[in-house]
Amino acid sequence: MKHETLIDSSFALGGFTSGKHGIWTRNEPADPPTEDYTALGEMLGIPLTRIVRPYQANGSKAAIVGAGHGGSGVIRGNDLTRTDALVTAQKGLVLSIIAADCAPVYLTEPEAGIIGLLHCGRQSAAGDLIRNAVGLMKELGAAPGRMKMTIGPHICRSCYEVGEDVKSGFTAAFSTYELGEIFSAGEGRLFLDMGAAITIKAVREGILRENIISSGDCTCHGNGYYSYRRGDRGTQDLAYLMMKQT
Ligand SMILES: [Zn+2]
Repeated sequence: MKHETLIDSSFALGGFTSGKHGIWTRNEPADPPTEDYTALGEMLGIPLTRIVRPYQANGSKAAIVGAGHGGSGVIRGNDLTRTDALVTAQKGLVLSIIAADCAPVYLTEPEAGIIGLLHCGRQSAAGDLIRNAVGLMKELGAAPGRMKMTIGPHICRSCYEVGEDVKSGFTAAFSTYELGEIFSAGEGRLFLDMGAAITIKAVREGILRENIISSGDCTCHGNGYYSYRRGDRGTQDLAYLMMKQT
């Protein structure tokens, strides 16, 4: 099992873990929570009724969640369908998303007391997931200029070889100069830097570049995390983020 704490301030706690088995989803809503979620709850000292996971779809939908969503997708059926970002003002509620090469993006705004957690794959990075998540945080009173963003472990630009079709999916959303920062080519091969795309989109929404950090870890060529590109199927890593109760 591999686990990293990425955020640990007086305000918030966030991390990324492979879990013991990499199993975070259940076959039926009535199935018990997975062993990995049980272990995560014990590690955080949080009951599973206060952890929430959406049904993800590599899209651009973000949702505000509160105490009433606790346990959704963890101990009972999932009431957040086709959602790739969760935003909350609820202290002690653990937001979680699964990923296995896609980037987990952690947003915190301590002054307003708002957090957000995004599952950002290439479609979401080219789409409006970041804009929608930041927009919901603003609705709750957060200011982008005060937000801190952490881009967690994801497939790196050396590992993420893509086809020209992927690049053409980005051309509507990025300028030629920006595409040059996001894609690199060599020896007839094309590589995608998701961290660069996410950073550009975040800066557009008013998040300051100096408030954006990347953990630097690669899920694919590093050891210990599950990676779709490396061949893992049905096993994934989990990102989590919560506001501490003070
Ligand atoms: Zn890599």
